[in-house]
Amino acid sequence: MIKVSKDISQIKPYSPGKPIAELERELGIMDSIKLASNENPLGPSKKALHAIRKALKEVGRYPDGAGFSLKDALASHYKVEQNQIVLGNGSNEIIELLIRTFVMPGDEVVIAHPSFSVYRLIVQAGHGKSVEVPLIEGVHDLPRMAKAVTEKTKLVFVCNPNNPTGTIVGKSEVDAFLSKIPKDVLVVFDEAYAEYVTDENYPDAFSLLRKGAPIILLRTFSKIYGLAGLRIGYGISHPKIIGYLNRVRQPFNSNLPAQVGALAALSDEGHFQDSRAMNEKGKRYLSRQFDLMGLSYFPSQANFIYFYLQGKSSPTGAQIQNALLKQGVIIRHLGGPSLRVTIGRQHENKRFINALRCII
Ligand SMILES: *Cc1c(COP(=O)(O)O)cnc(C)c1O
Repeated sequence: MIKVSKDISQIKPYSPGKPIAELERELGIMDSIKLASNENPLGPSKKALHAIRKALKEVGRYPDGAGFSLKDALASHYKVEQNQIVLGNGSNEIIELLIRTFVMPGDEVVIAHPSFSVYRLIVQAGHGKSVEVPLIEGVHDLPRMAKAVTEKTKLVFVCNPNNPTGTIVGKSEVDAFLSKIPKDVLVVFDEAYAEYVTDENYPDAFSLLRKGAPIILLRTFSKIYGLAGLRIGYGISHPKIIGYLNRVRQPFNSNLPAQVGALAALSDEGHFQDSRAMNEKGKRYLSRQFDLMGLSYFPSQANFIYFYLQGKSSPTGAQIQNALLKQGVIIRHLGGPSLRVTIGRQHENKRFINALRCII
């Protein structure tokens, strides 16, 4: 039997949320709602769907391996050069590329905890070592993360807004942090939820990049653009960094419908604004309901809210998740008392709150 390294055998596989069909079959229920994976409840833009449908007859051909049209559109959208952009099969692939490109066995990667669990998995699979720095009140502890950087550190992940807590780190904290980071370390700003942020103190990673900061920022079409199933994301950095990632990536890593759909989605300002506005409304509603119920939560800058119950006799997070499941509401349990709910359409948010009220 072929042998595998301990790094691989000891990985705990990522557990995605349960597909709706499977849950309904298990529980014998219908019309359940899924508020577990931070997808856009409005779905994709009609323009994107139209463009994808039109492109389907082309799928006998390989996609444009350089992703010219999409990168061209992204470059003018963000006022960067094409050679500063790498496309990925979801931004998850770019996380993987970063680790395969820059992390050698035994190298260290500094990440916050809890944060996006994929970082740790990929670091381990790449034979690197994750150095985890606990959040403070749901927020990255950037001073401690800077102190955790050693000669072995290659990458630092700053998930901003952070998944699962929804919090951000602000401009001055990030400036102070970057001033302490050695130039041969790359800081990865994972901005999967950037388009939802309303706080004016959110750092402008593009301007940091223009000033020469050693950073890469990651964005995705999976969240506000509603194209999670297509798998398309991108990274923006200095041409040299992007050049390395391009050497390592597969030549046709982003597929044809994804490139075409993303291009159309990027130009659909109406769908973008509707998605943002709906999220803001839902966030205000859910926060107010949590206040009324006496639930604790972190103020969110994303399309989800992290919440928990504190009382000694309160149900646990797992109990709440299961009781909600029985009422056809799927949210995410994060361990201990903590849960994460994706902000949905208003009727979904109401159904979730009503179900939650029955439980606590
Ligand atoms: C959802 C999410 C992503 C997006 O991943 P894709 O591969 O682009 O779908 C990236 N980072 C974080 C923190 C996320 O929550």
